[in-house]
Amino acid sequence: MTTLSTPVSHTRLQIVSDFDGTLTLRDIGSSLCAHFRLEPYPEGLKARWLAGEISLPAFQAQVWQTVGASSEAAAAFVEDIGTWRPGAARLFDLAQAGALALTIASGGFGFYIRHLLADWPALSTTAFFNEVDLDAHGCRARFPHADLHCGRCAICKARVVERIAATHPAAPLAFCGDGRSDACIVDLALRLPQLKLFAVRGSFLESTCQTRACPYIAFDTFETVLDALALPT
Ligand SMILES: [Zn+2]
Repeated sequence: MTTLSTPVSHTRLQIVSDFDGTLTLRDIGSSLCAHFRLEPYPEGLKARWLAGEISLPAFQAQVWQTVGASSEAAAAFVEDIGTWRPGAARLFDLAQAGALALTIASGGFGFYIRHLLADWPALSTTAFFNEVDLDAHGCRARFPHADLHCGRCAICKARVVERIAATHPAAPLAFCGDGRSDACIVDLALRLPQLKLFAVRGSFLESTCQTRACPYIAFDTFETVLDALALPT
């Protein structure tokens, strides 16, 4: 059995986590877009995404065109609103110490993920996220991980977890998430019973788990997650 003091890489606990609204309390990307909006985005755009008529990246690409922010202004705003969910820093410390492997899989954007993870730089080098070119006159979103596209997401959480499950077949596996962009994980969890699924209490992901009768653990803080995975809090 693997112990925390002598981790063995192939059986080390693998945690995949969403970023916005999961590791952070607020959705940083949505808050940025709302705060720095230059003009309304096209009418009906959000409804088309919610109805599944367009993908999340197609929605995000159009939204970012209506947003104007310099790097300096965006960084100051992120600094202001980027509060971690309680216990997240402990999770990062454990990952940095090698007690577990943490892969961040985010439909959000690199500039604020790297900025907020400045104290744990190794975590952003193994993370998956999109990029945005900031510009005070209109930003441009980019989606560089074509291999993780699923038709609904640019960074499909299910694809990331599947990849880790394939490369670490003996490792315990967990996923933490909250939102619509995490919903692909439910299909995977229903056919991958060794995957422990953690959903932020009251989130879209939690209600999807309930609707689909998918086992999950609700959480408000990462202490709950660490406890459930028998890690020291
Ligand atoms: Zn997906």
